[in-house]
Amino acid sequence: GQNVIVIVPGANLLLNFEDLKRASDVICKAKVVVCQLEITPAVSLEALKMAHASGVKTLFNPAPALADLDPQFYTYSDIFCCNETEAEILTGIPVGNLEDAEKVGRMLLERGCKLVIVTLGAEGCMMISGDEAIPKHVPAGKVRAVDTTGAGDSFVGALAFYLAYYPKLSMEEMIRKSNCVASVSVQAPGTQSSYPYRKDLPQDLF
Ligand code: ADP
Repeated sequence: GQNVIVIVPGANLLLNFEDLKRASDVICKAKVVVCQLEITPAVSLEALKMAHASGVKTLFNPAPALADLDPQFYTYSDIFCCNETEAEILTGIPVGNLEDAEKVGRMLLERGCKLVIVTLGAEGCMMISGDEAIPKHVPAGKVRAVDTTGAGDSFVGALAFYLAYYPKLSMEEMIRKSNCVASVSVQAPGTQSSYPYRKDLPQDLF
């Protein structure tokens, strides 16, 4: 059930500042802006800055990971969400358990993040925020993983959904629900969960 990924960025790297300018109206009126490193990092960073300047919530997922990530990514992300591999590349701390994830979380808070989530595969995730620097483990349900490709994307997408549509939920509850969505995605090949059509799954996510 573990995956191996090859990345061919192709046309993604053609997205530029002009494209951002053209999309500025959408970016600045959004409820949430999600950025990753699948496009040129400087363009992602500029999108985060535009969102931030308009008071739009920013969710950043440093994937694929870069060892020399521009430190401004830490300060312009309201939520910084990485997996174990990305956490290690960014901090040099190999993440094999919850304690390691907590160390990473603390280090990223020191770099200027407001809230850090480290996803831990079948173990769910760890969250830590600058407001109350007590790390929390939010476990995922026990499922039979068939294909974990895109689990992190599924998690980040679900989290963005809850931030936009259910902003009054606590962060822990949003993460619990996002774990649940992502754990559905690993139970079938590919990433899409066809969730609403599966009556055998918990129905309290929407
Ligand atoms: P990535 O896909 O970026 O490597 P992870 O493997 O950490 O990210 O998975 C992201 C999220 O997907 C986890 O936090 C969890 O919610 C869910 N998940 C991944 N693997 C499993 C699994 N085997 N069982 C249950 N949930 C899983």
